[in-house]
Amino acid sequence: MGNEQEFQELLQQIGLDREEICQRLDFLDWGHADIKRLGSHGRALQPAHARFLDHLYQRLGDFPATAAVLGNPATVTRLKHSQSDYYQRLWHGPHDHDYVLNRLRIGWVHQKIGVDLKWYLGAYRLYLQEMLDGLLGEHPASACFASLLKAVFFDIGLALDTYSAAQRKALENSEARFARALRGANDGLWDWHIDHDQLYLSERWADMLELHRDQLGSGSAGWFARVHPDDLGGLRRAIEAHLQGATASLHHEYRIRRQDGSYLWVLVRGVAEQVAPGQRRMAGSQSDISQRRAAQEQLQHAARHDPLTGLANRTRLDELLRQVAQRSRRPGAREAALLFIDLDRFKLINDSLGHQIGDRVLVEVARRLGHCLRPGDHLIRFGGDEFVVLLDDLAHIADAERVAQRMLDSLLPPLQVQAHQLVVSISIGIAALSEENAGLDSLQAADLALYRAKAAGKAQFARYSAELQSQAQHQLELQGALSRALDRGEFSLVYQPICQLDREQPYLVAVEALLRWQHDGQEVSPLEFIPCLEESGAILAVGAWVLRQACIQVRHWQLAGQQQLRCSVNLSSRQLLQADFAARVADILRETGLPPASLVLEITESQLMEDSAQTLACLRELASLGIQLALDDFGTGYSSLGYLKRFPLHILKVDKSFIGAAPEDNDSRVISRAIIGLGISLGLQVVAEGVERIEHLEFLRAEGCRLAQGYWFSRPRPPAELERLFSGEDCFEGLWCLLESPRHVVPTPSEPLATRAMP
Ligand code: C2E
Ligand code: MG
Ligand code: MG
Repeated sequence: MGNEQEFQELLQQIGLDREEICQRLDFLDWGHADIKRLGSHGRALQPAHARFLDHLYQRLGDFPATAAVLGNPATVTRLKHSQSDYYQRLWHGPHDHDYVLNRLRIGWVHQKIGVDLKWYLGAYRLYLQEMLDGLLGEHPASACFASLLKAVFFDIGLALDTYSAAQRKALENSEARFARALRGANDGLWDWHIDHDQLYLSERWADMLELHRDQLGSGSAGWFARVHPDDLGGLRRAIEAHLQGATASLHHEYRIRRQDGSYLWVLVRGVAEQVAPGQRRMAGSQSDISQRRAAQEQLQHAARHDPLTGLANRTRLDELLRQVAQRSRRPGAREAALLFIDLDRFKLINDSLGHQIGDRVLVEVARRLGHCLRPGDHLIRFGGDEFVVLLDDLAHIADAERVAQRMLDSLLPPLQVQAHQLVVSISIGIAALSEENAGLDSLQAADLALYRAKAAGKAQFARYSAELQSQAQHQLELQGALSRALDRGEFSLVYQPICQLDREQPYLVAVEALLRWQHDGQEVSPLEFIPCLEESGAILAVGAWVLRQACIQVRHWQLAGQQQLRCSVNLSSRQLLQADFAARVADILRETGLPPASLVLEITESQLMEDSAQTLACLRELASLGIQLALDDFGTGYSSLGYLKRFPLHILKVDKSFIGAAPEDNDSRVISRAIIGLGISLGLQVVAEGVERIEHLEFLRAEGCRLAQGYWFSRPRPPAELERLFSGEDCFEGLWCLLESPRHVVPTPSEPLATRAMP
């Protein structure tokens, strides 16, 4: 800092304004008389001045501290000269502003060159003594006054000592507090004279960057050069905003480069001040906030990732989807696709092997899926056993199918989890992100496609299409209508005859009850509405209604003469999983009076798979009641011989697809023959389904199959039509007959029956 500037600052600090000067002079009773008096006596005291100066410099030479400052005789002569100028001004004035400034400047220079205040005061004491001698000569009081001067000047010295020491002390205290606070805050300090571009940086400031203060230069360039390129604009804007008065202080976080090239997160704080017109200065602190930032980043990471697999989670997916949506609006953007993935039958693993193994499976599946992706693609754990893949930058949407196929293939080798070798498969739904998905977002579209992949048999992928959505829409409408169908009496049962073949003419031994739904004046196929009922759970109530209704009907026919007639009813897996299902069936039998041996319950293989322990217990209970159990549609599913042995089955129904093709198709013939042979050798009654032509019947007879069902005998018929047979009114072309001869049958009272059957 320049000398003059330093002096100006000192003047400001002293704060000697006109008012203060007046007050001081006033207290000294300084007046015109004093000016006149000094002016008139000044000249007479010239010799006293010369004496004083000689005396003074002689005395100063006696003390080593002052002798050192005096230097050579030429300096002394110069000093004596400027000092006599001063005395001239002291006696003759003017005592104006310039005078005051001059005095202050002299004082400042003396202080600076190290002239202690005691020499300063001592010199004034000597001066007064010389003047006294000059004025009064050998006056009797002058010796005494001279002594008084010495004592008073000594005391003045003491008073100044205490004042300045106390001020110094206060300053030191506040400085020490400041220093302690700084050490505690561990902050670096900076002080920037903006218009001169002079930057002071504290040692701690440099320390944070593992630098030495000298390495940073004296201007702001050294600071800004270290700011992270991405953060520099922000920092400059924050500084500018504060300088413009837009912010009360500077408060900004940014990254700054350390000695080793790594970046440190810091918080800079500061305030600007106008030190003089056009002179701005800004100062403040800088703190290391890397730990807080790291913790923040960790929290952010935790909020966006799944702790089990380490994959991104749903929150992160939302962000990614937003980013992709933004990118896709740009011209030339490539395709992006979403894959919704769900593990097949994961619940089975969790329930049978425990959640720990389930977790390991998820981790391993995530790992394998991850290997099928390119950098830039994202794998997200959506929740539970659901994953989502975001494929960005695809040349064509069909590429998504290739990725899906890779993922399916990656799970073909069994997983080794602890001691278990597990075969796990996934189903995948694919939706393009760009495509208009008819009001669905891409996640919903992919989810819908996933649903389709599952429904089509799992372990495969399916792509979203508009047609798929209208199907889903239709499904939803069906479900709504189905939920009201029972109450509205829209359901009815038809019965299909099952005939025995061991005589020349086949004869009726049983009927299979089949459910019909009349919706909006149209019949809906059970193949369509039964899965719908199963999904919504409504199959429980509807299934109970079917069972009761069929038992009532067949019991009615038994009492009307067809005593041996059996009743076959189809079950859904949901019914079997009801804890008290066997008891419910027993109740219905009791209520309707149908003997248990007359009831056949038909189940499919897939039902046996669902939860075998529970299903097995339920089937055993049913069998113990004397009810017959039939395995329906055999040959279309797993055709496991294990099931035939393990479950208490009485009847095997060979699926119509084999019988239909058997006479012409060699494979079907071989399979049918094998199934029939297998059933017979296991002691089961074998029923062939789908007998449509005489050739089918001949084939079955040749294979020793004794029971058959199909259009050749009769389509499923409403009760009234069958009643015409039982009463002898109709013989249905005479292709088959009744076991018991026809009797007059009272028609089933449909109204009360239906009412009674309502659950
Ligand atoms: P399912 O139990 O195998 O029933 C036999 C199906 O084959 C019936 O179809 C029947 O009409 C049909 N069928 C009978 N003979 C022939 C033939 O010669 N040729 C051909 N091509 N088909 C023949 P439907 O009535 O459409 O029932 C379809 C499936 O719906 C049933 O297959 C059964 O699994 C299910 N189902 C029907 N009613 C119920 C019910 O009350 N409860 C449950 N859970 N499922 C039912
Ligand atoms: Mg059936
Ligand atoms: Mg069947």
